[in-house]
Amino acid sequence: MTDTPLIDGLGRRIDYLRMSVTDRCDFRCVYCMAEDMVFLPRQQILGLEELARLARLFVSQGVRKIRLTGGEPLVRRGVVELCQEIAGQPGLRELVMTTNGSQLTRLARPLADAGVKRLNISLDSLDAARFKAITRTGDLSQVLAGVDAACDAGFDSVKLNVVVMKGRNADEVPDLVDYAVQRGLDISFIEEMPLGHVGRSRGESFCSSDEVRELISQRYNLIDSAENTGGPARYVRLEGHPGSRIGFISPHSHNFCSTCNRVRMTAEGRLLLCLGHENSIDMRALVRRHPTTDEPLLKALQAALQRKPARHEFASNGDVQVLRFMNASGG
Ligand code: SAM
Ligand code: SF4
Repeated sequence: MTDTPLIDGLGRRIDYLRMSVTDRCDFRCVYCMAEDMVFLPRQQILGLEELARLARLFVSQGVRKIRLTGGEPLVRRGVVELCQEIAGQPGLRELVMTTNGSQLTRLARPLADAGVKRLNISLDSLDAARFKAITRTGDLSQVLAGVDAACDAGFDSVKLNVVVMKGRNADEVPDLVDYAVQRGLDISFIEEMPLGHVGRSRGESFCSSDEVRELISQRYNLIDSAENTGGPARYVRLEGHPGSRIGFISPHSHNFCSTCNRVRMTAEGRLLLCLGHENSIDMRALVRRHPTTDEPLLKALQAALQRKPARHEFASNGDVQVLRFMNASGG
């Protein structure tokens, strides 16, 4: 533990790290990747021991929550052992993961046993053909079986994530809420962010959280809630259905940067200070240059935090300002 927690130049305390454990994925979601993605050569990716060392370092500096993401974290070989190693760090409150669900029939139980506390599972459609069209390669039945496996595996919570796009899945919003309610799961609806050129204009399919809310209110009575889970989601509850919360993640329509408590590490070890900016520090170079002493890494980290931007600057027309793809950023 530390007496000098990570405080950025604007006084925001950083206690949440999102780590991308791979840029690879078995899906090619239309909002996240181009169809013909080129992935990083393996030697450019942080090794499992390097990931564990960096996680340990951040926890020693007051990080209390780590989310493993990607790419698809569950296609990284050795990820369960990595989870076990990170979850065991004294001082860490929770290790959580975001996954596309495709490997969960096999891995849900081992992950829970390894100490992963909560899972976010992406699920953009309940229609097999649409699901295939959105993910390009995904098999809906495999993911639905994965959600069931996760519900049975003993996590503290399982939550669903939906990126809403007009003309693709916006009309399914109420059905996705039904699906979550029937299982007593929380579900969050995400506005599409302009990360990377994905081969289509995002502006025309953009669906704001206010529009999503309107779609849900055609089937449910929404009750505003002041609940805050420390992240960017704003929550509402549904009258008569206490088991589920509806979250809205609205980087465009509701800016949440002033309370930002997080930094992100890409799969190649670039520490991103803000999802909406390109500036970063190369932690991989530091880790490899200083295999046995943490001091230079800590110095670089403290200095970088003083440069954490005040806010992202995504344009509301969906134009790309950040050339990184989401899979490289650690969504
Ligand atoms: N592969 C895992 C998954 O899909 O859940 C984890 C990585 S993915 C990059 C993390 C989250 O980012 C997913 O919920 C995904 O839907 C979301 N995401 C990806 N690209 C996005 C974009 N351009 N705008 C908003 N959300 C996006
Ligand atoms: Fe893969 Fe997740 Fe990106 Fe979809 S959103 S392509 S599942 S990393």
